[in-house]
Amino acid sequence: MAKLKFLDLRKEIIATCLKMNEEGINQGTSGNISARTDEGFLITASGVPYHHMKPEHIVEMDLDGGYRGDYLPSTEWRMHLDIFKHRPEAEAIVHTHSIYATALACLRKDIPPFHYMIGIGGGTNIRCSDYAEFGTPELSTVMLKAMEDRSACLLGNHGQIVFGNNLEKALWRAGEVETLAKQYWAALQAGEPVILSDAQMKTVLARFKTYGKQSNELGKNEAHAVSAPTRRDTPKEKSKGKHKGHKHK
Ligand code: ZN
Repeated sequence: MAKLKFLDLRKEIIATCLKMNEEGINQGTSGNISARTDEGFLITASGVPYHHMKPEHIVEMDLDGGYRGDYLPSTEWRMHLDIFKHRPEAEAIVHTHSIYATALACLRKDIPPFHYMIGIGGGTNIRCSDYAEFGTPELSTVMLKAMEDRSACLLGNHGQIVFGNNLEKALWRAGEVETLAKQYWAALQAGEPVILSDAQMKTVLARFKTYGKQSNELGKNEAHAVSAPTRRDTPKEKSKGKHKGHKHK
């Protein structure tokens, strides 16, 4: 058998699928995961349970909607294709029907800034798209609209979809969206959550640009908006900043 292209990235996608299930944010095989390559993208096959998934079950697609290999891509491949096409910063995508995000999506509720972590989606809310049938170009249209200036959105009467600059980041973001949906749901049960103002969210969003980065990963002109604590000891050797996001080839 010819050697599979992008073998490491295929394995990484499978590992991410298994992790998504471990985290309890996916229902059966309803979720799907993809990652960009220099020729298009790789996406999970249609209907293969994750614990049976092998590298050949990850399907290679191009940005014109063609695929290679013996397995059909997920029935939801079009959403992935359209994100990769229209959002150049997207390197990996996670789509799931996680319970609370889906529940809010069925109520067609945007998640407002009831909590500052809403900023993980790139803005002051996480929007919910209109409804359109799965796999259709119409769904891509309403999804892209809800995702404008965001890296996450709810899909009306469907679920959630997020992207990141790698698979780990995309899975992290999907988990955060589900947590926010659950927290918002809980707050709504007890009353009317207080919504943060635009001014309050503005400073949060500025800080999120450097969120989770270590000082050696920050660019020359980037600084923590709120000063970092003072380091007392002397660093052993200069770190080379190994853990930068990598591009998939
Ligand atoms: Zn779906």
